[in-house]
Amino acid sequence: MDNWGELIALGIDTIIFGICSRFYLKYSYSLNLVERAQRLGINPDISNLSEEERNYVIYQGDVKAIGKPIKGLNTPDITGVVQRLTIREHAIARNASGFWADQKNTIQETYNLVPFMLKRGEMIIHILDPLGADILDLDTVHNKFDNSSLSVMDHVVGFFNGVRQRGIETTEELLKEGSVITAIGEVSKGLDGNIQLSPPSQGYPYFITSMPVSSLLRKLEEQKTTYRWLTYLFGGIGIALAVIITRRLWLERQAKLRDEELKKKLEATRKERRQNARSGENLSENERCVVCRENPKEIIILECGHVCICEDCSEGITKDCPVCRSPITNKAAAFIS
Ligand SMILES: [Zn+2]
Ligand SMILES: [Zn+2]
Repeated sequence: MDNWGELIALGIDTIIFGICSRFYLKYSYSLNLVERAQRLGINPDISNLSEEERNYVIYQGDVKAIGKPIKGLNTPDITGVVQRLTIREHAIARNASGFWADQKNTIQETYNLVPFMLKRGEMIIHILDPLGADILDLDTVHNKFDNSSLSVMDHVVGFFNGVRQRGIETTEELLKEGSVITAIGEVSKGLDGNIQLSPPSQGYPYFITSMPVSSLLRKLEEQKTTYRWLTYLFGGIGIALAVIITRRLWLERQAKLRDEELKKKLEATRKERRQNARSGENLSENERCVVCRENPKEIIILECGHVCICEDCSEGITKDCPVCRSPITNKAAAFIS
């Protein structure tokens, strides 16, 4: 089997094709939904919306904390409602091919959040579960990189370990108060009478983004197009590989059939030649094969060494010698002169 390379390539291609087509379907589904979603203008009346329209709405407004906002850790004059603190380690690591390459590892990621709402005109919508959003846009308010001070010993150890630390990056991101946000989700009236937006119960994507709807649609469209081309590309490669593998298997089969045909032909001519060479009439009884009692004895059976059968009968006798019943390990043509 020389097809392992192609088969492994086909397997990997199928996996990538599957992932790309899933992303393509996801983005095309999201795009469709956002295009059809109910856009709430200024001071909309939720009670006028049908059940279906409430399932997926777009609302734009200014972010405002309900209660006390979060103060920026490094920039106390900036307040927000969702805070993400990330600590990343930057290192240079030797990869499989022996080269040193930059590497980033997230050591820690923490979120802080306070309840918040989107306000436009008189209308207030409370935003629930922002961390459940498919897209949650935050602004970077602080980013710091501390270079590691490595001793000579650290360098030596790092060289042998294959990992050398370069430094630590700390990033603080905020969903800032006052920023204009487009939120897309399911709208409902909470038990406390407030209007709220939550992750859609139908499994539709939930967005909390700084992009206006037109930009979000464009971004989804771009991603959809990218993954469509990738799906075509890997689909095409898959088909090409399948054709190559099928063609090779077919050729191998054809060659095998031709070989068998040739072997059969040779066998037939050999048999015929033997038949012509035999002069069956003037053989004595103990010169004839013990099985068919017609052809001359032509085969020696090993290990026992009995010369007792003709070549025709030897094809069917593979286990025991017909004379002494000892197991057959080998057979060969016997030439009695
Ligand atoms: Zn025979
Ligand atoms: Zn024997």
